[in-house]
Amino acid sequence: MNSDNRGVVLVISGPSGSGKGTVVELLRGLYPNAGVSVSATSRQPREGEQEGVNYYYKTREEFEKLIEEGEVLEYTQYNGNYYGTLKSEARRITGEGKDLILEIEVDGGSQIKRIMGEEAATVMLIAPSAEEQERRLRGRGTETEEVIQGRLQRARAEIKEAVNYDYIVVNETGKAQECAEEILAIIMAEHRNNHRMMKYIREYFGE
Ligand code: 5GP
Repeated sequence: MNSDNRGVVLVISGPSGSGKGTVVELLRGLYPNAGVSVSATSRQPREGEQEGVNYYYKTREEFEKLIEEGEVLEYTQYNGNYYGTLKSEARRITGEGKDLILEIEVDGGSQIKRIMGEEAATVMLIAPSAEEQERRLRGRGTETEEVIQGRLQRARAEIKEAVNYDYIVVNETGKAQECAEEILAIIMAEHRNNHRMMKYIREYFGE
């Protein structure tokens, strides 16, 4: 069977509490061809985070210079900080022949869809219910009620954007592995999308 040799671009968005980070890590384990892009951000590293592993950490000025120089594929401001996908990172991953996985929020997701059209597939990851979403958000621990309410509000606004996404995947509690498998199935299906495979049909008829 001929295989499609163009990489898939897969955007995964999901509000805090959707379990996005865990699912993407599991996907990496399941599928060595997943090239998960490391974003640039102007936020401070959290404890345990590493430069070049979790993010490329920039000052606001450095980030703005990257934007001016056209080095950023998409970007947004989230909680007062810049977050963006570096073109160099996307090029590196696609150059290795890997599928480009972008774990980004909804504003960035819609920019990618605008730039790439059918080359990109978008997945919205959600918790199984609003109650479970809230429980997961609160479960994180020590934040004030004000911070939690802010996150819940933002999460609801992000989930509303699901209407613009190609796929919606529910991350059932305790089933992150199954959820990663579903996302892998979406990647595989995208490789067989008509717009990628028609060339084989044309070849079949010698066109
Ligand atoms: P956190 O600060 O929790 O690591 O990330 C906050 C939000 O920014 C998450 O929803 C994450 O998916 C999103 N994010 C991370 N990198 C990027 C990026 O390169 N572009 C955009 N648009 N969002 C990003």
